[in-house]
Amino acid sequence: MASVEFQNVSKSFGAFNALPDISFSIADGEFVCLLGPSGCGKTTSLRMIAGLETPSSGKVLIGGKDVTYLHPKDRQISMVFQDYALYPHMNLADNIAYPLKVRGEAEDKRHARAREVADVLKIGDLMKRLPSQISGGQQQRTSLARALVYPSQVYLFDEPLSNLDAKLRLEARGFLNHLQRDMGMTAVYVTHDQAEAMALATRIAVMDKGRIVQFAPPIEIYRRPATTFVANFVGNPPMNLVPAQAAIIDGKLQLRAEGLSVAALPVSDAIAKAVGAKTITLGVRPEHLRIARPDDGNIITGELFANENMGPESLVTIERKDAGRVTARIFTDDEIRVDKTVRLSFDAEHVTLFDSTGARIPV
Ligand code: ATP
Repeated sequence: MASVEFQNVSKSFGAFNALPDISFSIADGEFVCLLGPSGCGKTTSLRMIAGLETPSSGKVLIGGKDVTYLHPKDRQISMVFQDYALYPHMNLADNIAYPLKVRGEAEDKRHARAREVADVLKIGDLMKRLPSQISGGQQQRTSLARALVYPSQVYLFDEPLSNLDAKLRLEARGFLNHLQRDMGMTAVYVTHDQAEAMALATRIAVMDKGRIVQFAPPIEIYRRPATTFVANFVGNPPMNLVPAQAAIIDGKLQLRAEGLSVAALPVSDAIAKAVGAKTITLGVRPEHLRIARPDDGNIITGELFANENMGPESLVTIERKDAGRVTARIFTDDEIRVDKTVRLSFDAEHVTLFDSTGARIPV
């Protein structure tokens, strides 16, 4: 296993600058997810680690060695693709053993090793079949087996679970988590599924428009999102964001917005500075909202928009007049009965504040 480093890497396609300037460092044994919306540059970054794309400027290092211009086959990396990229005319045994064949391993040896990996992944009985004769989940495990058959310095994954149905996807995610715990592999994993990133990563790099906006462990990203963009991307449903007019009155922060009633919050230096800009965004996660009790102090009021019972929890969404929706995630297996007008409440400790540029205000 080895570390991976980007030093001021940029990548342009013709006149289009897809990645203006990226630097990061991934330690040996880390499982890093590149998370972001379509087109933010995740796959391009991954392909530069693999050597399938060359940076326009900057350096890529694997295990401390400059590999910027090294051919993919000389990098000791394995890659799992979204469409699995299995060879259709080869049976599973040959597909899985292919990386060993390329490296000149004898046939009996490479087939024994392929069988070993296939057994771990529970596809050992299918070795004589062609990719067209197995299910999507089995194809996914075959492509994973091919990546694992040869010891690599770094494992690269490009949305490997996105073609699976919801149930298989969960199962495969759990398996990858187990594998990571077992092997301690260095991995870079591209996804636009925040739940997948939260479940698998030791650290998540959240990307937006070719830049990394936050690079931190999942719990840090969840608890202290650096910007409204990150807050809105992570969490299911994502964090509620309520722009409000801010003022400091008698040394306390007052927030005003449609349907919002917040007991005055204490003012830190960072808040005092941000209030100069007047608009502050209040963020509160759906799981931190509840149906208000009469004596609750922090309230968001709106008209009921949806009440979705999911079994162990309900999603209650309200609409504030001309001011957007707010969703509460309420953990109960009882049916929630609410009136037309709903009051949701939250504790001050669960509030995240963002300044007018969208950056989180540290507390
Ligand atoms: P997705 O989740 O949709 O796969 P992504 O985050 O992986 O998106 P990239 O595939 O890395 O995004 O693409 C980043 C940007 O670079 C996009 O705007 C894309 O259109 C552009 N791009 C990627 N490859 C090329 C190419 N070969 N030629 C021109 N533009 C490209």
